[in-house]
Amino acid sequence: MHDGETGFCRVRTAEDGTLYTKVYELVDGMAADPIEKKPLFHFAPGSHAFSISTSSCNFRCQFCQNYHSSQRESPVGEHMTPSSIVDLAQRYSCGGITYTYTEPTIFIELAHDTAEIAHSKGMFNTFVTNGYMTSETIDYIAPYLNAASVNFKGSGNKKFYNDLMSVPKVEPIFSSMQRMHEKGILIEITNLIIPEVGDHPDDTLNLARWVVKNLGARTPFHVLAFYPTFKLTSVPRTPVEMLEKHIAIAKEAGLEFVYSGNIPGHDYENTYCPECGFKAVERHSVYLESNNLSQEGRCPKCNADLNMSGVQWMVRGRGSMGLF
Ligand SMILES: [Zn+2]
Repeated sequence: MHDGETGFCRVRTAEDGTLYTKVYELVDGMAADPIEKKPLFHFAPGSHAFSISTSSCNFRCQFCQNYHSSQRESPVGEHMTPSSIVDLAQRYSCGGITYTYTEPTIFIELAHDTAEIAHSKGMFNTFVTNGYMTSETIDYIAPYLNAASVNFKGSGNKKFYNDLMSVPKVEPIFSSMQRMHEKGILIEITNLIIPEVGDHPDDTLNLARWVVKNLGARTPFHVLAFYPTFKLTSVPRTPVEMLEKHIAIAKEAGLEFVYSGNIPGHDYENTYCPECGFKAVERHSVYLESNNLSQEGRCPKCNADLNMSGVQWMVRGRGSMGLF
């Protein structure tokens, strides 16, 4: 960028040869959410995450659920320092902080400084991200990042990313996941199935196979139903049968923890032990109903490793529905 220019993200400006961010300490959205709402089903089940975001994004998804915030022309928000964010998270009894709603790499400096303080106080840090970042970004945040929900749309189909999200290529997302995996960060994947434009069974099969091969068969994989929003209102909701077809494809590819999303009450919201079939975690929508895992996060019946992480922050027994 030349002096006086602002990037595609709308938050970074060049002045006298230096890049400045407009969103450091400018928090556009915050809430105390169940961790299941991120969705993270295999990280600290039953805990609460203090969720923050700033304005803007590096993608232009025509179906963004948070477009009011992600597609703002200029950033707005409340002035909050990293330590004041951590203090507020503790006041709301949250086990940690999630950087979400818009893309956390947009406000990576704020996320980094907040995560460092939270980590020093024994709290967790998680990302909800589109995965489009450099390895340097991952290395910068990795010492404090415990888990990431990496969000795919239309199973990562390149043309779909080009046409409906203004994203030139998808390879960086796969490189990011490999890097995070190497760094020991738990990855959960979401895949939004959009009827007519982003619903190819082959794309889901390819994505699921890649995950099995590179991240492991016990990587949680959430298949999400679309609902019309923002500029994409001419496309209908994802029918349950279509979602179930994609769930079946992901399972056939070898994934052992496949979940449904945005279909409250669906049986695929629960965690079943892949070895003995026991219902280890029961959920309704994005709320935990009961957590029957062992203290170590394993199957209480057969002691199978269920790829649960952040167990030091999990809440066992009945869930805390309606606390917030
Ligand atoms: Zn079991």
